[in-house]
Amino acid sequence: MHLSWIPGFQILICEHLRNLRKIFSVPAKRLLLFDIDGTLVNTGGAGVESLKATVRNRFRAGDDLRDIEIAGKTDRAIIRDILHKYRVDPTEENITSFAREYIDGLPLCLSRTRGRVLPGIQQLLERLKPQPHIVLALLTGNWQQGARLKLQHYGLWDFFEFGAFADDHQDRNELGAFARKRAQLKHGHDFDAADIDVIGDTNHDIACGKAFGARTIAVATGSWSREQLQGCAPDFLFDDLSGTDNVIERLGW
Ligand SMILES: [Mg+2]
Repeated sequence: MHLSWIPGFQILICEHLRNLRKIFSVPAKRLLLFDIDGTLVNTGGAGVESLKATVRNRFRAGDDLRDIEIAGKTDRAIIRDILHKYRVDPTEENITSFAREYIDGLPLCLSRTRGRVLPGIQQLLERLKPQPHIVLALLTGNWQQGARLKLQHYGLWDFFEFGAFADDHQDRNELGAFARKRAQLKHGHDFDAADIDVIGDTNHDIACGKAFGARTIAVATGSWSREQLQGCAPDFLFDDLSGTDNVIERLGW
């Protein structure tokens, strides 16, 4: 029998490793969970354009989707809302079919819209990536394939080890558990909530981090203003993530 099959064996090993780290004063690894849109990149609305094109193709409707809340929501939840609006039953099959068409249209939209990597992000990721105590990962409402397409387009995909995506759950507040599970599988120990940062540009990112006790870091580079984000009481609030030394020092990264 494989040892990992014995009940409690993995928990025992994790606890043992945690104690060893304390005894030898090895600093705990810090798990950084980044949102994508409005936090790492501004795609110039490529995602919304692809959603609109999919609606146009499926429902013969020129819809600006302004009545659908998009920023900070998971793609799964957004598609459910769109299907509901067009009185289509949001079955798994219908959601998946819509999502496939949306993702297929994304590369063309990314090439047409004028997007950019947000201030300081490239420099920050380059500084953090080689740090042995830092784990870079994603916590995003994008489908995994959509996240990959967006971040590959801007040359950022390879900075991240893994992520939690809309594929995992439609409720963003549930995604923290998926990210932690993947971190544990990859790094061999359970990350305490106190050792996790959630970085994002909307109220949904802050709520999602608070939902599992992580530190929340808001950045006003997306659709939410500094004042709006302040009202959500994040642990830290930045205008943007430029000034790499200052960001790293303030956050203890
Ligand atoms: Mg965002």
